[in-house]
Amino acid sequence: MENQTIKIGLPRALLYYRYRVLWRTFFQDLGMETVVSPPTDREILERGTALAIDEACLSLKIYLGHVAALVGKCDYILAPRVSNFGRHRSFCTRFEAAPDLVRNVFRDSRQELLSYEVDVLLKKDEEDGFLEMGRALGCPPKAVKKAYRAAKKAELAHHKARVQKQEQLCRREGMKVLIAAHSYGAEDPALGRMVTGYLKRAGVIPLRADLVDRDAAVKRSRELSPTCKWEISREILGGVALRRDEVDGIILLSAFPCGPDAMVNELIARRVKGVPLLNLVLDSQSGVAGVETRLESFIDIIRFKEGTL
Ligand code: SF4
Repeated sequence: MENQTIKIGLPRALLYYRYRVLWRTFFQDLGMETVVSPPTDREILERGTALAIDEACLSLKIYLGHVAALVGKCDYILAPRVSNFGRHRSFCTRFEAAPDLVRNVFRDSRQELLSYEVDVLLKKDEEDGFLEMGRALGCPPKAVKKAYRAAKKAELAHHKARVQKQEQLCRREGMKVLIAAHSYGAEDPALGRMVTGYLKRAGVIPLRADLVDRDAAVKRSRELSPTCKWEISREILGGVALRRDEVDGIILLSAFPCGPDAMVNELIARRVKGVPLLNLVLDSQSGVAGVETRLESFIDIIRFKEGTL
């Protein structure tokens, strides 16, 4: 199999928003092509909703819609299994189940899947996972190792640049609202983009709790919860702890029905005092008008509290 001909499909959902630079750089470094599903639209959302069980969270429904959009358009679709980075550093069980779920839902298609596993508790770190994936693709281990190291470097540099941009935004004059959400929630057009778009049009500066130095955030998360076991939730908690005194309001944005967010958002609501909070839980029926009305009222509450309404 010639590497140049291999096309890897990347569903634009869930961990894509965290690892897009890592994945793209890795595959491109090995001479492969990456194909990304288009931004979420009504068709992707409806397709994913039809493929998922009713109890699935909206983010998972969107993910399945993106996988469906890639079926037949690439040699492999990437569906990693990310379980944990170690003790008390777990990922939501959806990320653990992703490859099995995709395999099962798309079992009648001839689409090949590609996966890697991160389970540090079972002594499989991310690099091990990538080396195994490279081997499965028939690439020389040395080239795979080099590609992984370059990709990791690019991913960290990309995140650092985004964090620096947030710092600059944070120093700007004007009303600032922090969005506490998973990156796929904050960036998906059916979820967070709707919120950030409205805030910007209303002259509010949206900041992101997940765009912070991850190690520093995990340390600060203990102020709000010393026992939270989900890695991404700890980063968000830490992001809230780091920024709570710099913002005028906080939006807890989640996809219905998210187990980790139900607990973590309740915790933030109980422990972060003195800053207006809006709990926004979106599902596939959430219309733009309804969301905008709630955002408008929230901005009015902030202005009223600050005496500028
Ligand atoms: S953390 Fe919540 S929104 Fe994300 S995949 Fe898990 S249940 Fe869904």
